[in-house]
Amino acid sequence: MKFVDLAASLDQMEATSSRNELVRILADIYRNCSARELQPITYLIQGRLAPFFVPVEIGLGERSLMIAIAAAYGVPKEEVIKLNRQTGDLGVTAQDLAKASPSESPSVVEVHERLNQIAAAGGAGSVQQKLDGFTGLLRDLDAISAKHLVRITLGKMRLGIGDPTVLDALSMAKKGDRSLRPILEGAYNRTSDLGQIAWTLWDSGEAGLEALKVRAGHPLRPQLAERLPNPEAVIKKLGTVGVQPKYDGLRVQIHKDADEVKIFSRNLESMTEMFPELVAAASELDVDSVILDGEAIAYDAESEEYVPFQETTARRRKEGIQEMAARVPMRAFVFDVMFRNGSDLTPLPYERRFAIVEELLRESDTLLTAPLTKTDSAEVLTRDLLDNISRGLEGVVAKRLDSPYQAGARNFNWVKLKRNTSGHLNDTIDVVLLGYYRGKGKRAEFGAGALLAGVYDSDKDEFVTISKLGTGLSDQGWREIHQRLASLEVAEKPPRVNSTFVPDAWLQPAIVVEVLADEITPSPRHTAGMAADHPGFALRFPRIVSLRTEDKKAEDATSVREIREMFEQQRRSKG
Ligand code: ATP
Repeated sequence: MKFVDLAASLDQMEATSSRNELVRILADIYRNCSARELQPITYLIQGRLAPFFVPVEIGLGERSLMIAIAAAYGVPKEEVIKLNRQTGDLGVTAQDLAKASPSESPSVVEVHERLNQIAAAGGAGSVQQKLDGFTGLLRDLDAISAKHLVRITLGKMRLGIGDPTVLDALSMAKKGDRSLRPILEGAYNRTSDLGQIAWTLWDSGEAGLEALKVRAGHPLRPQLAERLPNPEAVIKKLGTVGVQPKYDGLRVQIHKDADEVKIFSRNLESMTEMFPELVAAASELDVDSVILDGEAIAYDAESEEYVPFQETTARRRKEGIQEMAARVPMRAFVFDVMFRNGSDLTPLPYERRFAIVEELLRESDTLLTAPLTKTDSAEVLTRDLLDNISRGLEGVVAKRLDSPYQAGARNFNWVKLKRNTSGHLNDTIDVVLLGYYRGKGKRAEFGAGALLAGVYDSDKDEFVTISKLGTGLSDQGWREIHQRLASLEVAEKPPRVNSTFVPDAWLQPAIVVEVLADEITPSPRHTAGMAADHPGFALRFPRIVSLRTEDKKAEDATSVREIREMFEQQRRSKG
């Protein structure tokens, strides 16, 4: 496939506001490409060169790209800057400046390879090397291809494709319907690599997908926890449980494969650089290969104090990590093991996996086993919950002792119990920003009035609205949010958004915000959970607690199914 043909399809995707159409166009691309092109195309359409968990970056930001665009099209840099101010989209700026089309368009595989070479350039002189490589590539492309190349390089595709959209398109391309979705999803939960899944499906069919197993070095999607309102409900539903403290740090998946250690976040991003002390501790473990699941938190073993979450996430900054590691060393409380010495442990019952964690970590004082107590008594569970809260922890997680590790599933194998603040829902909700209203007065100064927020309907792969948000942020917070919104603004409603509200500006679903509300109420206008025979759901008195862009993608926001369950629990507890 020529890059110009891919670019034409990307243009069609950009123009549609229907999810079905998006899937159809993407399925057509897959039908018309060769097996060798499946992987590069799958990564490129998501603004990547490799799967999300492989930290390859092209390494050219807006400023460098402006220099390359100026050089490629023989115009002064100032002109690029000026035009870009008008278009507000560097892709469109490149498209506007591109000259007559070259006679021959490079193939998708060639463009992917050349971008990889640009990404690989490092050391002295690499900035110039990257710029030259990119300028050369722009010169070989037509205007529409240039627009998409620039967007791929910036990782800003503006197409509204999510991972489930890709899975549906693969199924459509291969089978003509969505019937392969469950098997594709299973493979995705175990490997997190859409490109590899696409290639495997073409190369060795459904049996090939089934044979894709968990392996060290490749993150699997994390098992997630359900909610229940109180300890009594937990014991009633689960019987005997293993109870663990719920640490408020950062979820970490620690992989050791021979001499190499990698660490991944909750949304499968590489975090290896952030945690040198965890890497060192993992490499000392007496195993050839292992995958551990746990929570990283700064912990002072002497005073037995946990350092607040902000201190843990400060590691996100690239500078000063060694200094921070010396000042507030990180521990990881490990609660699970999914793989050891070549064996997939996910089918084993939790009790067995936990025993393996204890055995593996006996010697380590950085990777600590999260303590587990076994009980079938609601009183004991209540005591544990209160005890953990008084020690400054978030609450407890109760786990079914006979459950397998179900990658990517949120179910009652694990149940989280937190402090129950009266008058509030007993958990926060993670919403995705879908649009905003310009606002009046002081708010207008910051560029944003109320925000339109939604949750994720995973069955339909759609974002549905649940609330408008107007409170909870400081003036500075509003300013910051507006800065982030600017780059996500799109002219039309994105294809996967379902809303009866029409905000002043639509946003690509990307920013996840943690919200606390008093309750969930029925709503005739919000589309979350709305069906022919019942209204949607809305949040009563919502206020923003924090931004969660760091570790949650839009699809990781609270789901409609969770909202429905919280609504039912709230109704039962009101009696
Ligand atoms: P989720 O990860 O469930 O989408 P969240 O990130 O908003 O939601 P919570 O709902 O508060 O977090 O709780 C689940 C998270 O709690 C896990 O993802 C994990 O990071 C953390 N956690 C802390 N301690 C434990 C533990 N002992 N067992 C499992 N998870 C734990």
